[in-house]
Amino acid sequence: MIGTGILKGMGVTARNFVGSYFEKERLITVQYPEERSPLPENYRNFPFLIYDGEDPQAGLRCVACKICEKECPPQCIYIVKSDDKKPDYMGKPQFYPKVFDIDISVCMSCQICVEVCPFEAIKMDKEFELSKRERFNHLLQRKEELSKPNEYYHGICPTEAADVDAKLGAAAEAAAKKKAVAAAPAAPVLAKPTGPTGSTSAPASS
Ligand code: SF4
Ligand code: SF4
Repeated sequence: MIGTGILKGMGVTARNFVGSYFEKERLITVQYPEERSPLPENYRNFPFLIYDGEDPQAGLRCVACKICEKECPPQCIYIVKSDDKKPDYMGKPQFYPKVFDIDISVCMSCQICVEVCPFEAIKMDKEFELSKRERFNHLLQRKEELSKPNEYYHGICPTEAADVDAKLGAAAEAAAKKKAVAAAPAAPVLAKPTGPTGSTSAPASS
């Protein structure tokens, strides 16, 4: 019968409306901004940069390789590479971004910058109260605003952040082992016995 679907839909709405006075789980609205619904772990908004330790400058993971800048579809990332280098989380000297800006008025939250970054240096944030009255520049986020500690990342995406830490820890361990092997003194090379008595063969005369 025509209109049955509409009647069924109205029935669901009415049941939830009346039910919301008696069952809290049927109440799907909250008194924002005093009350806030928890955001799911896979919710994302705009990117931010991660640093390790206490110092945002010393601990910044970004090495200014500019891959994200090149791959960003609307080209809203702007990076200027440093002239000098600083040690990364494995102690290897690396460049760092002297300037790292993201224009969030252009960013489309696609997460491509996160996926292409080989250094786990950029991740998606959940911050959404970023509106401004001004139209220009105020939505341009600078390196200082974008830099957030790894603990913050653990707070917003605990599962993903734990996986990233495990991956970086394994890479650091493998690099340390490789370094130790390279630094170990080379074992002396013994002459290979060839004859039945164990004597080495003499070079063939021409
Ligand atoms: S999320 Fe997408 S649009 Fe935004 S900065 Fe990253 S790559 Fe660019
Ligand atoms: S965020 Fe990652 S991809 Fe972008 S410049 Fe820094 S290290 Fe390179």
